[in-house]
Amino acid sequence: MVMINLYGVELHKLEELMIGEEQKKFRATQLFTWIYEKKATGFDEMTDISLKFREVLKEKYCLIKPTIYTKQVSTDGTIKCLLNVKNDDKVETVIMRYNYGNVICISSQVGCNMACTFCASGLLKRKRNLDVEEMVGQVLVMNDLLSEENQRVTHVVVMGTGEPFDNYENVLDFVRIMNHPKAFAIGARHITVSTCGIPDKILRYANEGLQINLAISLHAPNDEIRSKIMPINRAYPLDKLMPAVREYERIAKRRVTFEYILLKDVNDRMEHAEELARLIKGTLAYVNLIPYNPVDEHGYKRSNNVHAFLDKLTKLGVTATIRKEFGTDIDAACGQLRAKHVEIHEN
Ligand code: SAH
Repeated sequence: MVMINLYGVELHKLEELMIGEEQKKFRATQLFTWIYEKKATGFDEMTDISLKFREVLKEKYCLIKPTIYTKQVSTDGTIKCLLNVKNDDKVETVIMRYNYGNVICISSQVGCNMACTFCASGLLKRKRNLDVEEMVGQVLVMNDLLSEENQRVTHVVVMGTGEPFDNYENVLDFVRIMNHPKAFAIGARHITVSTCGIPDKILRYANEGLQINLAISLHAPNDEIRSKIMPINRAYPLDKLMPAVREYERIAKRRVTFEYILLKDVNDRMEHAEELARLIKGTLAYVNLIPYNPVDEHGYKRSNNVHAFLDKLTKLGVTATIRKEFGTDIDAACGQLRAKHVEIHEN
């Protein structure tokens, strides 16, 4: 019999499981409190649960976290780990120290199928989706490291390896566990899901009634450039993506963040800034400009126009910021660390 890892069970599902075990519904909240608030690592610690039911729990359920395979710490405090998850698969997870808190960047899949031409994650194709417990596990492991400094994860971004909307249900259960007051209690506005732009999933997300932030990897002001650097754009071009964004804003009453990687001579000219301003006109969205973190295998270069691009957008009335860079002395770009190790150890 396969044991159920409770780190992967969202509260409503845990209530159903408990009812299936002929327990009262509140048993689920009690377990959540033990697991997340009191940080129990085994069922014997749960002293207000009857011995008899603890035996049942021990037989059918478990609490298993990923283990650390490699750990790198940057001079700026960024921690990047390659974690061993199930089947000995490896995923990256990163902690960045902003002045407002500790932000964890979560991987949602083992590898990625989106094949963006600038990204290291796509160097290795998707092997599988991560289970909920493997995403929650990334936060648990980083919290263990941070607890040595009396700190904890305060913000979550699902921006690591993988396309979260290609693993929709698991990612949603994961964010529910992050958000739940009896679990990680991380405010919805401190959680961000980043997608390459899958219109039907954006609409589904809009209707979840969550206050969680949505970021869209736009990276280009027109279809010609976007299709070249993001193959997903051939399936969902801008005339499909942009209406979904506008609809999201209408339904969720939230604005999105457009991420825009500046690649030298590809999408960083002043005319691109003008075209971008026209493209997003009428949305509430703002633009987060991302200095490119070069990936040797791809040959793109960092743009010299980052500040000029920002100024241009600002003059055109677009709210924009430049993303702060972290961990430039370690393998910071998404997928880099894993690509290196999986190459060495699996080939
Ligand atoms: N698939 C999702 C989430 C993972 S990528 C998405 O596309 O949004 C998270 C963000 O990191 C995306 O905006 C992605 O384009 C960006 N990114 C990928 N490689 C990068 C690199 N080498 N330098 C800077 N940003 C990068």
